[in-house]
Amino acid sequence: RAKDLGRNRFQFYQPEMNESVGTRLNLERRLRRALRDNEFVLQYQPQIDIATGRIVGLEALVRWQDPEAGLVMPSEFIPIAEESGLIEAIGEWVLREACRQNQAWQDAGLPPARVSVNLSARQFHRADIRQIVLSVLEQTRLAPEYLEIELTESVIMTNAEEAAEMLNQLHDIGIHLTIDDFGTGYSSLSYLKRFPVDRLKIDRSFVSDIGVSHDDETIITAIITLAHALNLQVIAEGVETTSQLDFLVAHGCNEIQGYLYSQPVDHGLIPELLSSDGIFEAATV
Ligand code: C2E
Ligand code: MG
Ligand code: MG
Ligand code: MG
Repeated sequence: RAKDLGRNRFQFYQPEMNESVGTRLNLERRLRRALRDNEFVLQYQPQIDIATGRIVGLEALVRWQDPEAGLVMPSEFIPIAEESGLIEAIGEWVLREACRQNQAWQDAGLPPARVSVNLSARQFHRADIRQIVLSVLEQTRLAPEYLEIELTESVIMTNAEEAAEMLNQLHDIGIHLTIDDFGTGYSSLSYLKRFPVDRLKIDRSFVSDIGVSHDDETIITAIITLAHALNLQVIAEGVETTSQLDFLVAHGCNEIQGYLYSQPVDHGLIPELLSSDGIFEAATV
């Protein structure tokens, strides 16, 4: 890190540093090429309505099919893409591809479900983000009610005043908005009330502590109560076990997403999942 190394400028000439800058530039170059050569792919993870056991949403998760390294997960390239600005182009590709694919499934007569797209900080703060979303919806013919955008709590709360304005612009289009990884940042409750969001997504770190940490269970029930008091829906991510599911059902969570139901899967498997009739036994209490 140049910032840390700056304290001692002699370190600047050490080979490790050159190597890490080299690796970074190399990754950036390969990401640029990946974009040009269409090497990004989307997997989709179902989101299940607890009341009906049906798939109501699909979260689009980007992967990079690197000819050399194989399938690369977003944690390995999103940070660099974010820093280099490439995330804007990658994110726009994800948005367009997710909308196009969802409309294609609807055109094929499959039961409709929303598609959720993660938006990075950099994309969210673009002055023309509303215009980008509008034109993608128009080009793909997807109705706005079938698009949901996920923004993390930290992205929204870092500059809440500006975020409120951006969220209003996006909300006006008629798409859904979800606050992702909720509970990990510092939400201002007064802002939460003013933001035109539809759903809070409880972060996986709390869900994985169900049955382990009483404090985390308390946080989950508090989030659900808060959300419902503000007329928001709640989805829990990272649900892996039936005891986690049982806890969430008992406390009124609306939707779940996680390995218990399905891992993120290739687009080719989605038609079968969408058309199977509530394979997930409705989690009736
Ligand atoms: P996220 O939006 O919070 O996505 C949820 C992550 O949790 C996904 O990891 C998903 O595969 C994983 N997951 C889902 N269910 C379970 C479970 O039951 N157990 C466990 N252990 N993990 C589960 P993934 O696909 O590696 O994505 C990681 C993060 O990368 C995402 O977190 C999101 O922040 C980011 N990301 C993914 N796709 C995009 C994208 O298109 N654009 C942007 N800006 N970020 C993206
Ligand atoms: Mg997400
Ligand atoms: Mg999340
Ligand atoms: Mg998360």
